[in-house]
Amino acid sequence: MRFMNTEYGTLYIVATPIGNLGDITIRALETLKNADIVAAEDTRQTGKLLNHFEIRKPMISYFEHNKAQRGPQIIEKLKQGLNVALVSDAGTPGISDPGADIVKEAISEEIKVTMVPGPVAGIMAVVLSGLDTSSFIFQGFLPEEKKKRKAILEEFRTQTRTVIFYESPHRIETTLKEISEILGGGRRLALCRELTKMYEEIVLKSVDEHLSDFSAKPPRGEYVMVMEGVDSQTLSEMNQAEWAEISVKDHVDSYINTGMDRKAAIKKVALERRSSRNEIYNKYELEKSVDK
Ligand code: SAM
Repeated sequence: MRFMNTEYGTLYIVATPIGNLGDITIRALETLKNADIVAAEDTRQTGKLLNHFEIRKPMISYFEHNKAQRGPQIIEKLKQGLNVALVSDAGTPGISDPGADIVKEAISEEIKVTMVPGPVAGIMAVVLSGLDTSSFIFQGFLPEEKKKRKAILEEFRTQTRTVIFYESPHRIETTLKEISEILGGGRRLALCRELTKMYEEIVLKSVDEHLSDFSAKPPRGEYVMVMEGVDSQTLSEMNQAEWAEISVKDHVDSYINTGMDRKAAIKKVALERRSSRNEIYNKYELEKSVDK
């Protein structure tokens, strides 16, 4: 168990609604009422929430551009024995917002950290997407730099798991165009809009179909994008095409170079090329002798 200094206060990570105030939990309200300070990503937004539930508390702002100075001040308050409730703009602090940093700092300072769980836009979106929920990847926001965005999307070419993205409405069309270019416009994707709000809408169709919808009606509101993983049949065809371009010897050697013994490498290659071990062994030996 992690050592915690009992003289210190506790950092409570408090999830708040992502649109519908009715989604606040009883524990969230109790925690906000009992905390000494509320650290908020957006004090105006949290002010409205606290007002609505008639909670009066001193607030301190903690957001992306002041977290480097504010983080240590909050840690200091916790060390003085004060209990701090951290809330973000909406949803769960630490998920695509600055909450993650203060959690790490508090843990390294032996401060008790606990959480009042609640809404997460990405989880609601994946559940409602109609896509496979047995295994998924949370990508969150793609980086702003074009080269990095491209590299991440390239990685998803062979990804069989469902992928969850956050995106701002003014960038969603650009991102869909990039997905279409790199992964193909036929990939299915659910656009989950205005979750828990009056105009909540989930539309599952191909990337290119979404793009054509946007040319008639531009995006509005908040969106989570949930993308289907590549199916195993397509993945296997992609792999077969790739392996056709390298020799059996190079294929086997690539595994031997990772530390695998020759027998295991031949077995793996036979499986991947849908061939027999004997055939791979014979080809490997032949190509090796030609190479000499
Ligand atoms: N911490 C939050 C959570 O737990 O989901 C996410 C914060 S992140 C800064 C904001 C992004 O979450 C938005 O750009 C959007 O992609 C997604 N989001 C938040 N609320 C949403 C809603 N009501 N409907 C759809 N997407 C939402």
